[in-house]
Amino acid sequence: TFDTKAIQALDTAHYLHPFTDFKDLNQKGARVMVKGDGIYIWDSEGKKILDAMSGLWCVNVGYGRNSISAAVYQQMETLPFYNSFFNTTNVPAAQLAAKLVEISPPQFSHVFFTSSGSEGNDTNLRMVRRYWDLLGYKDRHVIISRHNAYHGSTVAGASLGGMRAMHAQAGLPIPGIEHIGQPNYLESGRGMTEAEFGIKAASWLEDKILETGPEKVAAFIGEPIQGAGGVVIPPATYWPEIQRICDKYGILLIADEVICGFGRLGTWFGSERMGIRPDLMTFAKGVTSGYIPLGGVMVSDRVADILIEKGGDFNHGFTYSGHPVACAAALENIRILEQEKLIGQVANQTGPYLQQAFAQLASHPLVGFANSCGLVAGLNLVRQKAELQHDCVLFGTEQNVGMICRGYMFSQGIIMRAVGDRMIIAPPLCISVMQIDEMTGLIRSALDQTLEDLQA
Ligand code: PLP
Repeated sequence: TFDTKAIQALDTAHYLHPFTDFKDLNQKGARVMVKGDGIYIWDSEGKKILDAMSGLWCVNVGYGRNSISAAVYQQMETLPFYNSFFNTTNVPAAQLAAKLVEISPPQFSHVFFTSSGSEGNDTNLRMVRRYWDLLGYKDRHVIISRHNAYHGSTVAGASLGGMRAMHAQAGLPIPGIEHIGQPNYLESGRGMTEAEFGIKAASWLEDKILETGPEKVAAFIGEPIQGAGGVVIPPATYWPEIQRICDKYGILLIADEVICGFGRLGTWFGSERMGIRPDLMTFAKGVTSGYIPLGGVMVSDRVADILIEKGGDFNHGFTYSGHPVACAAALENIRILEQEKLIGQVANQTGPYLQQAFAQLASHPLVGFANSCGLVAGLNLVRQKAELQHDCVLFGTEQNVGMICRGYMFSQGIIMRAVGDRMIIAPPLCISVMQIDEMTGLIRSALDQTLEDLQA
């Protein structure tokens, strides 16, 4: 048993939580999570909650995997830390690098390790600029990203990201980063088919390249499916067209796979599902299922060959790059994904099943529109439904309907995230079809309660 009030008192007195209104937290006190098993977590009051967000999009193999804790324990006992700076390495880091090259698309030959996705994207920024410098194009430094993208919270990560609220508080983005619109059909696709809109949204990249000057553009970065921006699933035409434009101008394509990597879309990496061939891929989260922090960048032959052939120090790295304990956790996590065939299960069973379940949820009077891809899904709460998603009448932002709904989700015993009035999920990949039924049942009850509340 836990003394919830005492822990909350320590927490509010001393812990500044990420992305949190500190004043609000002080008034309410945080919920204290104490235990996890499979797709469920428990709070200090003993409430069991279905974690439909996999923590923060990361606990891909689910909670309570003893074999990961055993691998971590064993590595800590043998060699808890050593760096890779002094022409030194360690066993799990070398093995994991090889494993990641094995499971990633064929163009990838090398890995650069970090401890997080944000640091991975900082690494991308430096790596693409160094790549072009080494090739003699010292002006080719601009990276194009998208509004509302999330690429992390470091200065470079937040600059690459397109979250206006993050930019506004810190004078970001740093120079040399441009943003284009996101492929959000609901927001910008009125009057077009999804396929037409996909091509249109990709053409914004070409417009920006021409406006910037193609000789100045180093790379384009994007999440295969924008996660924190609200699970924005692009039309099928979008990514192949982005790839075509990158190829046409010779610019590097960076896929931020922090959410989509390690099986979320039913393929090892989201790029495979979207039919693109990135030059660099950021990963984190699912690489260890969040058991221990680890991230990094997969580097293709195209980039690695230049970095290696032309030589010279790459003046970048972290104390914990290739941390042996984190790498040991990742190796065991990947072994579980393989042994339990979880990625095939997402592709052939649970992903299609979730898609059907969300199509049924779309019949709820509060849901204007619902969609999914693999094991990410979202539904939009609307004041009034319409045949065409663009004709739905939305709630006013001041009504905070998403947050109200999130509250009812929690009281029903499920964690679902609200991005405005879009409710999103990304459950652990080990979820079964029966558990998907349980999950959608809880979602439906919470939607009913939200509707009642709004009508009261
Ligand atoms: N990139 C994407 C697509 C993310 O979703 C996130 C985190 O949610 C990050 C980067 C940043 O990763 P981290 O929080 O590990 O720094």
